[in-house]
Amino acid sequence: MAEIIIGIDLGTTNSEVAVYKDGRVTVLEDNNSRLIPSFVGLDDNGEIIVGEEAKNQYLVYPERTIKSIKRKMGQDEKIAMGKEQYLPQELSAIILRKLKLIAENHLNCPIHKAVITVPAYFSDAQRQATREAGEIAGLEVVKIINEPTAAALSYEADTQRDQRILIYDLGGGTFDVSVVQIAGGVVEVIASHGNNHLGGDDFDQKIVEAIIDHLRDEHNFDGTLSAQAMARIEQAAENAKKVLSDNPFAPLAEEYLCEIKGVPVHLKMDLARVDYEEMILPYIDETLDAVHTALKSAELAASHIDEVLLVGGSTRTPLVARRLEEKFGFTPRCDMNPDLCVAMGAAMQAAMIKGDEVHAALVDITPYTFGTRAYHEDENGPMLHYFVPIIKKNTPVPVRKSEVFYTMYENQQEVEVGIYQGENEDARENVKIGEFMIQGLSRAPAGNEIITTFELDRNGILHVTSKEKKTGMQKKITIDNAMSRFDEAELTAARERIADIFTGDAPEAGTGDGSPVSAGVESVKAMAVVEKAESLFERAEPDDCEDMISLIEAIKEAENTGDKAALSAAVDELSEIIFFLEG
Ligand code: AMP
Repeated sequence: MAEIIIGIDLGTTNSEVAVYKDGRVTVLEDNNSRLIPSFVGLDDNGEIIVGEEAKNQYLVYPERTIKSIKRKMGQDEKIAMGKEQYLPQELSAIILRKLKLIAENHLNCPIHKAVITVPAYFSDAQRQATREAGEIAGLEVVKIINEPTAAALSYEADTQRDQRILIYDLGGGTFDVSVVQIAGGVVEVIASHGNNHLGGDDFDQKIVEAIIDHLRDEHNFDGTLSAQAMARIEQAAENAKKVLSDNPFAPLAEEYLCEIKGVPVHLKMDLARVDYEEMILPYIDETLDAVHTALKSAELAASHIDEVLLVGGSTRTPLVARRLEEKFGFTPRCDMNPDLCVAMGAAMQAAMIKGDEVHAALVDITPYTFGTRAYHEDENGPMLHYFVPIIKKNTPVPVRKSEVFYTMYENQQEVEVGIYQGENEDARENVKIGEFMIQGLSRAPAGNEIITTFELDRNGILHVTSKEKKTGMQKKITIDNAMSRFDEAELTAARERIADIFTGDAPEAGTGDGSPVSAGVESVKAMAVVEKAESLFERAEPDDCEDMISLIEAIKEAENTGDKAALSAAVDELSEIIFFLEG
């Protein structure tokens, strides 16, 4: 059997090792994680530690822990770690040796050869330093390949199609964008740009600042915090950031964080995704400027790009895909794990060098978009049946995603949650695959937060839960077979079959970005309230029915005359009656 060649992504924040074996590419685990932090350090006994262990001590012992050594590759300057001085390639070699060991343990054989990836912009000196690092670690570096080339390979190994791909790679501390051309089976980087001091660490830092501001406001102090407290805050910030990738809110809770004037301080705050996105928007816009520059140096326009691939852990931040979609007019691909696809591509390249026939990696993805229906308002006006995608097509499964919705009127006691499969922005054009009511909501002004969560597993079972944020009260439904339900033809037939069911549906709630109904959208709110009132006629007393009918007439009259004040007063009065009837 030919000797195994491993593929290595030697990253600034994390590194990974992968192998292509028996027609499959696998990223190897160490201590249940496939991401090995690119940290090297000395422990209390002066022994060298690598990965998670070194990362854990970084904030407490920065003088004997090294991070982001990749930034120094190719420089002659030595770096102090404890009492010793090391060249960058020696420190990188320590990480590579760890990856080699992980592979040897998994594969049960000695490993001598590797393909290692480097950024497209790396100079000859930086590439040479990477090669030397491999040699110091006992690895013959059979090939150095560009990270975007590896990422493109992981996505496109099977396709013969000629195309132009933009690789958007946002990691922990670096951002790179490359335009890659695939022609006649050859993958070539034709332009590349970036900022090697921009990434997820900056996003964490914004949350750290928000936490410190919160502590200062709550506890009225202006001193500095201990290294231990700061380490906990930084960790909490990174965790919250990850939670916000799939949820509209992230709770931050750290007991006994520190003492201020002798009093123990606990951190307890809730961070909303909308606020977080506002903090990081300037960074994302900066990356879009770089995208523009890369396109310009490739002498291409956005419309010449066939696909955008997302690489790097920070591309899990939903704002990234949203902004790219706005720029390119199509959804970027995210069906490969963005942390792992570079290592996977390196392993595929290694297998090709060995002479194996290489096929694209198989991942379980959902072929459909699943979402719900809500009131929505944008520059095109209000929409009562707006389809809000929650799990988008081509997302790897299992997956769990949540969004926040808002009640539309004061004292709204129930919300109807419709579950749809499809791509159309009008929910009525998609297929309704389930619905349920969440009832008994608390008496609250419009804008009461309802969090709806979609959880889809590999077997196509979809769990949908809606929860009133304030009280935790929730209602759920399970839909079996959500993924294999309909093909395109069945979808059209089903759509026609049930089309009339939708007429007369009441809206459930507003989307996350819209504020509770404003005066400009009063008539849509009025429609919702009128529909709700009409659905209650049967169980209302005759007196209430009469009141409701005259209020509905008043609403229609006010709408005809454009009298906003009268409309708003009649809607409020009708909402009040609905509240009592539902109560
Ligand atoms: P990389 O350099 O590609 O390993 O990316 C590491 C960066 O991705 C770090 O800043 C992580 O905090 C960030 N990251 C990892 N998972 C997520 C997530 N779910 N949402 C947002 N950022 C993430």
